[in-house]
Amino acid sequence: MHLQVLSSGSEGNSTLVRGGDCTLLVDAGLPRIALEERFAAAGLGHEPFDHVLVTHGHLDHARSVGLVARRSRATLHAADAQLSHPWAKRAKQLASLRVDARFELQARSHQDAIEVESVLLPHDCDPTVAFAFLHGGRKAVILTDMGRPDPDIAKRLHDPHVLVLEFNWDPERMRCGPYPPMLQRRITGGRGHLSNEQAGLMLERLAGPNLHTLLIAHISQKTNLPQLALECAQRTLQRLGLHHVRVLLTEQHRILPAIEV
Ligand SMILES: [Zn+2]
Ligand SMILES: [Zn+2]
Repeated sequence: MHLQVLSSGSEGNSTLVRGGDCTLLVDAGLPRIALEERFAAAGLGHEPFDHVLVTHGHLDHARSVGLVARRSRATLHAADAQLSHPWAKRAKQLASLRVDARFELQARSHQDAIEVESVLLPHDCDPTVAFAFLHGGRKAVILTDMGRPDPDIAKRLHDPHVLVLEFNWDPERMRCGPYPPMLQRRITGGRGHLSNEQAGLMLERLAGPNLHTLLIAHISQKTNLPQLALECAQRTLQRLGLHHVRVLLTEQHRILPAIEV
């Protein structure tokens, strides 16, 4: 299985997951044209996706999911509460995403399938989910837009080979940053986003013997610095004795190489 982050941050999030000939897209938060440039940069051909999944209805994740699914003749999987959103209705094939469930998504060719686990997160768009993807004995987890650390969620997503984890904000940068107090309270208030330190706590609970690559994701450009997030992740991994784990920073404006899970 391969995972490739095409875009990550408050302007738009999108990640590609491929297992055998089954290709999934998780979120499509950039405008369609910007996304299609990234699909081309990732080497994707005509109608590349079998399924498009959306973690939640915030536009930095959902903006183009319906359009991308339609142009790829893929099925869009969105939670029931989101099926009537204009961005969802652009898809031709819509499926109800089961929350807190395990299910299998088949490639159109029916040759391969990826197993998916959706896990409900505390975030101020109801419902918001994290995903674990399983294929060929390997596991990748995408966990962003999480309001606060939660040991039960960590248990359910424990020990992936590749982990995409949000490191959204730094307390000092938040205090001195441009956000008004109400927005600061929204982000830090338990249903917003994880700080670097909170992400470190989740990393501590999620990391197991299989983890080989951590991708630091959804880094705020206004209330965080990539270097601060990176240092926090590295400190946590050192403390856990996981010196071999590769740590990569995701970017808003550039796709990352595909990672072999
Ligand atoms: Zn987001
Ligand atoms: Zn969100």
